[in-house]
Amino acid sequence: MQQLHFEQILLATGWDKDITLKIDPSGYIQSIERTKSHEMGETITGAAIPGMPNLHSHAFQRAMAGLAEKRSSPTDSFWSWRKVMYGFLDMLEPEDVTAITAQLYMELMRGGYTAVAEFHYLHHSRTGQPYEDMSLMSQAVIEGARVAGMPITLLPVFYAHAGFGGLPPESGQRRFINTLDNYQELFSALQRLEMQDPNLTLGVAPHSLRAATKEEIVELLKFSPETPFHIHIAEQQKEIEDCIASYGRRPVEWLYENFDVNKRWCLVHATHLTDAEIIQTAKSKAVVGLCPLTEANLGDGIFPAKRFISEEGSFGIGSDSNICLNVARELESLEYGQRLLHQERNVLTSTAFPNTGHFLYKKSMSGGARALGQPHGGLQVGARANFVTLDLEHPDFYGRDQENFLNILLFSAAADFKTDVYIAGEKMVAQGRHKREEEITRTYKAHMSKLLANL
Ligand SMILES: [Zn+2]
Repeated sequence: MQQLHFEQILLATGWDKDITLKIDPSGYIQSIERTKSHEMGETITGAAIPGMPNLHSHAFQRAMAGLAEKRSSPTDSFWSWRKVMYGFLDMLEPEDVTAITAQLYMELMRGGYTAVAEFHYLHHSRTGQPYEDMSLMSQAVIEGARVAGMPITLLPVFYAHAGFGGLPPESGQRRFINTLDNYQELFSALQRLEMQDPNLTLGVAPHSLRAATKEEIVELLKFSPETPFHIHIAEQQKEIEDCIASYGRRPVEWLYENFDVNKRWCLVHATHLTDAEIIQTAKSKAVVGLCPLTEANLGDGIFPAKRFISEEGSFGIGSDSNICLNVARELESLEYGQRLLHQERNVLTSTAFPNTGHFLYKKSMSGGARALGQPHGGLQVGARANFVTLDLEHPDFYGRDQENFLNILLFSAAADFKTDVYIAGEKMVAQGRHKREEEITRTYKAHMSKLLANL
């Protein structure tokens, strides 16, 4: 049994001092004791906070960050970005995906994330033919996660159509497309891997209401009734208009009319909601998957977070297109969007948690843990010992009290300084440097040389 002694720590019950965690060989917290004694184990200096679950990532998009920032038409939008993205993913082989995923997950870990949900839709070979082993590309992602040491919730994505009402897929989507039978084969293969791998959790994900019909979603819900169930929804105005044209309803409105949406669901983005949809979503306990920096980058719109929180809605954060890999910057952006919108300060708080940093961190941690289906909801008995340390000698933290630590992390430059990150009690990042950084980045660069030469 491993023992770690903490000078200052944010437990699930709140901030505390002089705490010893006993951690079992699988990395789970067995006990939490108050003690001054640290003779038995390693002492963690500074302040420890739980790591953040990242509930929405498309790993391969990490490698195209910055490649779609040139105006290509008078109406540059999500849809022109998607064209660039399709062109990039056309070239990827499984070993490229492993190299990019390892680099990304290492960087996410340095940025404070200690588990990732990967919304994985790149399934087939470059011609669109399925690989002989349907799960080959999924295995490439899992291997990237293993190299970086990142616990992963893999969401193999079901994608069958190009638009509402079952439109036939476009050629740029040929690597994503599955029938329900194919998907069953893929999912069964991944279930066998999940049984042998404590760092792998499985979920189910219809890509969007554009890509899956009602009948298909009904079948997908039966695949594994307890696992997380994620879907992109209401990200773009055009999607709202197309949905109304096909189904006579807005996407979220239609979803709730047709399904029992509950706490198993993660509604990714849900940017454009009416007041009735906000109330219904909050009441259902579905987690809304917010990706504020990607939503800003793609010009999606601003999620009505103030109103949603007033209805006690659940949310978590994701890095989505992976243009910025830092928990603090993502949460800061969420709050700043609301400040600009409402012309107020400290918008996303509650009476119990008036500190904006603490409120945002706590809410997105518990929502994220639920969306990932992992034991990751804060430092408590039964959870994994996944945590990040803050250097209290840093000028921004020096002499400040615990109550302000998360405010400082989110709203000052401190977020960019070097931290230590532990996964299941093991130190993976020391002073901002990942233990396999050199090897991972060397491999990533070798693959990027090849890909960029062909772009
Ligand atoms: Zn996405």
